[in-house]
Amino acid sequence: FEAGSKRKYGAVKREPVGVVLAIAPFNYPVNLSASKIAPALIGGNVVIFKPPTQGSISGLLLTQVFAEAGIPAGVFNSVTGKGSEIGDYLIEHKEVNFINFTGSTPIGEKIGKLAGMRPIMLELGGKDAGIVLEDADLENAAKNIVAGAFSYSGQRCTAIKRVLVMDSVADKLAELIKEKVEKLTVGDPFDNADITTVIDTPSADFIEGLIKDAQEKGAKALTTVKREKNLIWPVVFDNVTTDMRIAWEEPFGPVLPIIRVKSVDEAVEIANKSEYGLQSAVFTKNFPLAFEIAEKLEVGTVHINNKTQRGPDSFPFLGIKGSGAGVQGIKYSIESMTRVKSIVFDI
Ligand code: NAP
Repeated sequence: FEAGSKRKYGAVKREPVGVVLAIAPFNYPVNLSASKIAPALIGGNVVIFKPPTQGSISGLLLTQVFAEAGIPAGVFNSVTGKGSEIGDYLIEHKEVNFINFTGSTPIGEKIGKLAGMRPIMLELGGKDAGIVLEDADLENAAKNIVAGAFSYSGQRCTAIKRVLVMDSVADKLAELIKEKVEKLTVGDPFDNADITTVIDTPSADFIEGLIKDAQEKGAKALTTVKREKNLIWPVVFDNVTTDMRIAWEEPFGPVLPIIRVKSVDEAVEIANKSEYGLQSAVFTKNFPLAFEIAEKLEVGTVHINNKTQRGPDSFPFLGIKGSGAGVQGIKYSIESMTRVKSIVFDI
């Protein structure tokens, strides 16, 4: 008898998990679908793709592209239908070995419960904070905050969804943000307007509810509050307080709350009180302090002096707490959707 493992040798390889169910949201119907499908196929899996109903035409065009690229029939399959109707059937299907989902937190939580012991990847909602310190380049901060908050009319998981700014520079930053937001054009996407209609009427109603709550509780609108059908003018609220819904809830629309804080500790505390933990941005010239804050923030990624964003597909992308489970990114996604097989022998 020989103790220990000196005589054991192992061959370790990765193998496909089997059938991957990929479910994508409406806001990036091609990118957030392809970033699930391609790594799953590279890992040797079979894919069942359910595009978002409001992005299903893009999803089907993507399906056609994969077919034209020569993916054999049956290896990549698309199933259309409303998630509320076919979702449970797909998720609970015994042949599905892995669920890769991007969408809202309530649906992600439901999927988590239905998945049982099968592995999942969830990329969910967010409430990304832009933290602005006293020594920040305010022009750069305002530029990135406005682009981060209002591109795609705010319908991005990684949109900047709240600004936490030090009191001493808050007036100046608010003025710079207001100037830039007033320059955003509002209207038809075919006219290249910056702000266009949000996805549907329930979403517009929800956003309006957040706006009204903020107004009733004393937030100061720096820009015009206006809605025409599903078109919501970009609105910046200053003097937002933590009793307002807009301080915590994800609008997924063109609304940006500014919360004034007295210290870095207060900024970190409010940032971390969120149920979400996707990303944050820190604006400062003090890099050691930026790293210190980054270490304390309960999020997947912290950007320094730039807007929150998914970034290159090769970077790890993840949310913690209510923002998700698992890590995306080309290498990380392939690893998630394959499993380790060890073959061990003694010599
Ligand atoms: P959603 O309503 O959760 O829908 C996402 C996908 O899930 C759609 O394909 C939808 O199908 C499907 N679905 C709906 N109900 C389902 C069910 N019961 N079972 C299975 N699938 C179901 O989200 P969304 O409104 O499209 O997207 C906005 C949300 O996604 C925001 O919260 C945003 O923050 C989040 N998001 C997160 C990331 C990230 O990477 N962290 C990226 C983008 C978006 P139908 O379209 O047929 O309803």
